[in-house]
Amino acid sequence: MTKALYLEDMYLKEFEAVVESVSEEKFIVLDQTAFYPKSGGVDNDSGIFRRLSDNKEFKVIFARKIENEISHEVEELGLEVGDKILGILDWNRRFELMRYHTAAHVLSGVFFNEGNVKVTGNNLVLGKGRIDFNFPNFERDLVEKFVERSNEIIQSDLNVESHYITRDELEQDASLMKLNMGLPKNIKHVRIVDIKTFDKQPDGGCHVSHLGEIGKIQIQKIQNKGKNNRRLYFELI
Ligand SMILES: [Zn+2]
Repeated sequence: MTKALYLEDMYLKEFEAVVESVSEEKFIVLDQTAFYPKSGGVDNDSGIFRRLSDNKEFKVIFARKIENEISHEVEELGLEVGDKILGILDWNRRFELMRYHTAAHVLSGVFFNEGNVKVTGNNLVLGKGRIDFNFPNFERDLVEKFVERSNEIIQSDLNVESHYITRDELEQDASLMKLNMGLPKNIKHVRIVDIKTFDKQPDGGCHVSHLGEIGKIQIQKIQNKGKNNRRLYFELI
């Protein structure tokens, strides 16, 4: 099982690791990684692997989760089981994805707390965020108000922290259970991401350490995706 270093240190930009498996010459599993795999509506990290024995570089163009492993796709062939590498993240990309992902937390928290509007999905890539929400009595003005409120919260620069709780603790906390849809039965410890005084939820993603790093949310467009379903596109400036 790949150790996911990004769960403990979201600001880790380089790490050493050992190649554990290679399939089709280009799909690499390491013993540990700081590369975030595409999941939860957030795009994957990219970067390079530098083999320590000869400094040869392998460009990492994709990362995804396969069962308990994180599989990295590299462009250059030649890595072998047992090779030691230095993994180097494309930090500008990762940091921007962390900003977008954390912005999505703030938006979904405000939509829920202030409008009882539930976010049903999101997709966050470089330069563009998308949030889908269930909004029976949709009003454009209200969405604009929620975004304005989200920006006020971002400006207040709250700390973002994470910690682990047991499944029992999770199930006893109604405020966390509202978002706990479909947590696999075998998961005994749950990572909680806590935007201090604002919102807590079970989460395996990467976030900035305080909200001020997000910048400012700007609405690009709001689409009607059928009865009750709306889609908000935003960018960070
Ligand atoms: Zn998150």
